[in-house]
Amino acid sequence: MDLAKLFSTLSLAGEDIPPRSTTRPAGKPKFVKFLPGDNGEGMPETFFEDPRTFNPKPGPHGQIQTWGIFPVCALPTNPSESVTLTFDGIQMMYRTVSLWHTNSQYDNRGGKPWPEKQFMDVLKDRKREQLSKLDLAGLDKKDIVIKIRLKVRNLHCYTFTDLRDGAVFGPEVGYDYLPDDKYMLAHLFSEVGDTFGHLYDYGDKWYHEIEIEKIFLLEESYGRVQILDGKGMCPGENMRGSYRYQDFLKAYDTDSYTEQVKKRREILDCPNYKGFGKPPSLFDIDAFDIDQANERLVAALSSPNSVRAGMKAFTMPINPSAQDSRIGKLKKGQSIQREWDYESHGYWQETTSSTKDKRSQSACAACGKPGGQDLKTCSGCRAILYCSAEHQKVHWKDVHKKQCSRKYLEK
Ligand SMILES: [Zn+2]
Ligand SMILES: [Zn+2]
Repeated sequence: MDLAKLFSTLSLAGEDIPPRSTTRPAGKPKFVKFLPGDNGEGMPETFFEDPRTFNPKPGPHGQIQTWGIFPVCALPTNPSESVTLTFDGIQMMYRTVSLWHTNSQYDNRGGKPWPEKQFMDVLKDRKREQLSKLDLAGLDKKDIVIKIRLKVRNLHCYTFTDLRDGAVFGPEVGYDYLPDDKYMLAHLFSEVGDTFGHLYDYGDKWYHEIEIEKIFLLEESYGRVQILDGKGMCPGENMRGSYRYQDFLKAYDTDSYTEQVKKRREILDCPNYKGFGKPPSLFDIDAFDIDQANERLVAALSSPNSVRAGMKAFTMPINPSAQDSRIGKLKKGQSIQREWDYESHGYWQETTSSTKDKRSQSACAACGKPGGQDLKTCSGCRAILYCSAEHQKVHWKDVHKKQCSRKYLEK
């Protein structure tokens, strides 16, 4: 098989595909084991080290990302620079594809795992051990002021990164994430000034840095989740990531009126603005409406957790039989929401659940206070929880009256 040709066929923009490199790191790996036929060609040199003593490496700008193995996603010091990629993803793809055609049949699900996974498993065990011994000193109960920017949920993959060692938390899809539903944000920092990373969407790459600005004493903490301030409208979902969007905004300031309207239209055409419902002339890129932001936060808090296996996706069916591929695998209480977009010849589909979230993963629908066993269930729908009778009353009047129904009742 002509791999170079394969990759150029797969490449999206016709960018130059580097040739396959036949070099491999010198020497023998200190820990990982290869199957016959594999000599580590195309594997990053880090995997030749010993994961039991491995020290994560900071990227070019001092932050530790992706377990300190691939210092990818290094943030440029000057926003006009592009993101520095210091590992060679193409060589790793050559490696994966060329090994499909040899006797080296690695199998991460029950067989002999890939050397990369052998290495990661040790790093993950080390981190798990460290996390299990961690004294959070009430950090999970204290109110924290953070600087953050978040976007629509459950449409793309996401991760959280502990920038102290590059440990990555996320939905357990790859072999290098710790499951994020088993840990709390409090596991990612210890004091004011600490930052951790949030990456949303592996295609476009929206980077967020979340900085701890203030930690309240336990006695002063009351657990409410609230937006204190913000700036500007959310970028459009498909606008190719943080850095391109920054350039987009910079140009916007000096654009002609016609150009600005064109740009506003581009944002409003994105999926997360589907419900905006106003013409581009009424869209102000710089506006921030704190009340509206908090309203959306409350709506998110009182909605059930996303169903991981049913993330929101857009489908353009080629033939009608393609439409029902996922029906039949639903769990109790789950249903498929589908919304046709006739203009785009396809539909949005998401699996949602009407069953109550696990107590360990739920919060007061009114204020967002995580309460575990202390939360009381709404007796109408039994789907949402409250921290107090007072919050239930307020939430009923403002929001829940229209949602609550016995039809959601779980039997
Ligand atoms: Zn509450
Ligand atoms: Zn209810």
